Amino acid sequence: MKTLLLLVLSMVVAAREATAQDECVRERAAMVETIRAYARSGAGVLGQQGLSERVLEAMGQTKRHLFIPERSCSIAYADRPIPIGLGQTISQPYIVALMTHLAEVAPDHVVLEVGTGSGYQAAILAHLARKVCTIEIIPQLAEAAAKTLKDLAYDNVSVRLGDGYGGWPECGPFDAIVVTAALGELPPPLIEQLKVGGRLVMPVGPAYSTQHLTVVEKIAPGETTTRAVALVRFVPFTRSQN
Ligand code: SAH
Repeated sequence: MKTLLLLVLSMVVAAREATAQDECVRERAAMVETIRAYARSGAGVLGQQGLSERVLEAMGQTKRHLFIPERSCSIAYADRPIPIGLGQTISQPYIVALMTHLAEVAPDHVVLEVGTGSGYQAAILAHLARKVCTIEIIPQLAEAAAKTLKDLAYDNVSVRLGDGYGGWPECGPFDAIVVTAALGELPPPLIEQLKVGGRLVMPVGPAYSTQHLTVVEKIAPGETTTRAVALVRFVPFTRSQN
């Protein structure tokens, strides 16, 4: 009798988990369609072509709900930024997709992210690149993100604690660099660590205001082109004191 009760109970739990998983799949797919449509609309900045299919696929494969404190699908798959504690936020999915698209990541690429936060953007990049190195300045976030990425078996991502202004020379040079915190200037070490043909995507502008999402392309050693693509609002890029 007891065994039967336990069996029924475990079946109920399994069914609940399966339903929760199904909801996540549906809501994640809906999120992908929302950002696909938004990117193609007049409000997007990419025109009729919209976001690349590879980027949309990575967005469809990455479990955003496992990167946020609530772990709730209804919260995770709305196209909104979400607080992740310690005054930081995980960006709106459309902005994550837009930055990833602009970085033009290919399967053999080595990519740097500055501002690991929850690890979500690093996970998206990990679906698209050979290797991702990501730096976070807040110890608790670096530790939590490293654990999430490890638990989800993102074996091609390395997380480092520190100030990302100086980049990560031992991991580079980079085909693409994505910075997810806003600074008034482009950090010269990041441009230095970019390969020729590589791109840096970063919000440039004042803290606690709107910034220009900027794409810098290294066209020759010591030579870059820079274009501002969209207005965005990111948390500030902070500098370590030492
Ligand atoms: N990409 C993240 C969200 C980033 S929020 C995600 O997908 O969840 C911006 C992050 O940049 C914050 O976690 C903040 O602590 C971090 N940050 C700010 N200045 C930094 C710096 N100088 N070096 C590394 N990380 C920095």
